[in-house]
This record gives sequence, C-alpha cells and structure tokens, in this order.
Amino acid sequence: MTRDALPDPWVRPAHPKPDVTAPGTGGLVDRHGRVATDLRVSLTDRCNLRCTYCMPPEGLDWLPKVEVLTDEEIVRLVRIGVEKLGINEVRFTGGEPLLRPGLVGIVAAATALRPRPEVSLTTNAIGLSRVAPALAAAGLDRINCSLDTVDPARFKQLTHRDRLDDVIAGLAAAQAAGLTPVKVNAVLLRGINEEDALPLLDFCLERGYELRFIEQMPLDAHHAWTRGEMVTAEDILERLTASHTLTPDVEARGSAPAERWLVDGGPATVGVIASVTRNFCGACDRTRLTADGQIRNCLFAREESDLRTAMREGATDDELADRWRIATLAKLPGHGIDDPSFLQPSRPMSAIGG
Ligand code: SF4
Repeated sequence: MTRDALPDPWVRPAHPKPDVTAPGTGGLVDRHGRVATDLRVSLTDRCNLRCTYCMPPEGLDWLPKVEVLTDEEIVRLVRIGVEKLGINEVRFTGGEPLLRPGLVGIVAAATALRPRPEVSLTTNAIGLSRVAPALAAAGLDRINCSLDTVDPARFKQLTHRDRLDDVIAGLAAAQAAGLTPVKVNAVLLRGINEEDALPLLDFCLERGYELRFIEQMPLDAHHAWTRGEMVTAEDILERLTASHTLTPDVEARGSAPAERWLVDGGPATVGVIASVTRNFCGACDRTRLTADGQIRNCLFAREESDLRTAMREGATDDELADRWRIATLAKLPGHGIDDPSFLQPSRPMSAIGG
C-alpha cells in the first residue's frame, strides 16, 4: 500500500466523493473522499483501572486540570459538530468517562441537539450500576463495555484491580435501563487471557450482550506492543470455532469496524475488530476530540489540531468548524502500522479513547 492510496479492497469508501472546494461549508471530508460523521469524545484521560496493555500500574501523569475542557466547552464543540459538520453519532469515552462528574449533563445536552445524534458510551462499567438509570433518562442510547475476562483472578491480573463484580453489575444495570444493545469489547493477550475467549462468548450469549474481540493495537503508554505478541483475528476465530459454528453475518457492514458472524445459526452474533491484520481504514468515518480539546483525524494521528486555545481566545463557531474541516482534510489513508516508517503516536490510548 502506498502512503497516498487508500488501503486495499478489504473495504470501500462508504460515501460518494463530496465537494471539498467550498471552505466554510460542508462536512468533515478528507482528501480521500471519506466523510467523518462519527465523533469520539474523550471526557478524561484518567481511569480507575490499570489494564496492562494500556498503562503502567502506577498510572500516568494526568492532563493538567486547566487544559481539560469544561463541560460547557465540550457541549459547544459537540454542538458545532452536529449542527455544522454533519456529525450524526457521538461516542463518549475516556480514560474512564464515568469518572467525569458532569457526564449525565453532557449526555443530556448531546441528546437534545437537532438533528439528534445517536449517543453512546465506552466504559469499563465500574460504577455504572449507580448511574445507568440517570444516563438512560438523559437519553443515552447504548454502551460499549471493555471486559477481557470473566475470571476474577485474571481480571485482577490484567487490571490491577479486584472489580469484576462491579463490571458485571454495571452490565446488568445497563441492560435493565434499556441501554441496548450492550456491546462488550475484549482484547486478548498472548499467553495471558487467550483461554478466556470461549468463556467470554458464553457469558455474553447467556445475557444477550454483543461480544467483539479487538486486536491489540500499538497504543499502549509504555510502547511495548509487538506484532508477534498480538492475538490475531485468525487466532480468535480458530478458538471460537472449536466450540461454536460461525457463519458470516450478511448484514451490510458499512463503516462499522467489526466483522460479524452469526453464532450457531444466530440471531446471536460475535464480532472481530481486526484493526491490524484486516484494517478498515478505507471506510473510516471517525473523528476524535481529546479531553484537552485537540482534534485527531485518526486514532494513530501523529498531529493534532488545537481547538481549545482557539476557543478560549474567542474563536467563533464557524472558525472552529473550519479548523476542524482543515484538520480532517489532512487525514492519512490508514494507520500505517504495516509501514516500515510507522511510529506509534506519543499520546497513549488512555488519552484518546475507544
Ligand atoms: S486507524 Fe485511523 S483511519 Fe484507520 S479506522 Fe482507525 S481511525 Fe480510521
């Protein structure tokens, strides 16, 4: 794959080539014709878990409070995205977004926007059992929960916290509050929790949760990722088919990251997000806002566009929208992990969000 061409024919651009010649108007279009309509907003870089593939046990140097966007600033940027830039999906993420005191108010403001975006949350579900009803009342549509094992000892080994019961209670509370479909995202690490693939699937099948396995990506804070250590989509499918029959789900995939299979004839499904071995960058529709007000046009972007400073210096909504458009135009065709020149972004996953 050359740097300027879109990735191979795994996936096709989901959108017709739009008019990008009229600055000040139109959506978030990159130079390859992809249109970003799915906004991921990191509400904090802090977390109450210490997942080994994300950050060290002692945690990280958190963003200085003064650099973190206020609730009002986040709501304003989400509003600009929805009203001026064609954003129709908003996913709140972290770090751990449940640690954000103003989360419910931010969700309520997002769901009050018109046209109404679909609003979801990526969380580790610790404490969700307390706030799920309030999030549902604020209009939250659904949740994605990160869970890599249902074995208490392994959970503690992977996260340095003994909180599996809280996660399971949070998932049940989300289901009860109607935040559905409840999706569970799992990362498998070679020699650590590969054995958990089938117990995780059975756990989700029994409860009606949609499980998706995600290939581990080079976004850890300690830059220890190696391709050889990564559990690939092929490895995962091989494990699952040892006990279940998987048939490709024919429903159109569009820009969705997950490839899906019907489990034992369906309707239950399982998904694999093969970010490294079978990337889906060609149909990418995502744009990201960090907790400190930076636009990232890709999870692996090595450059960011600062909206926080411009906003605090009095920029108008239109000026902020234009900065966002310009940041998107420069988006590279893909993550480039396969390129010999690939460099892991300096910002860790915990400060970008899922
Ligand atoms: S790696 Fe970047 S371009 Fe590829 S799907 Fe993810 S965000 Fe989109």
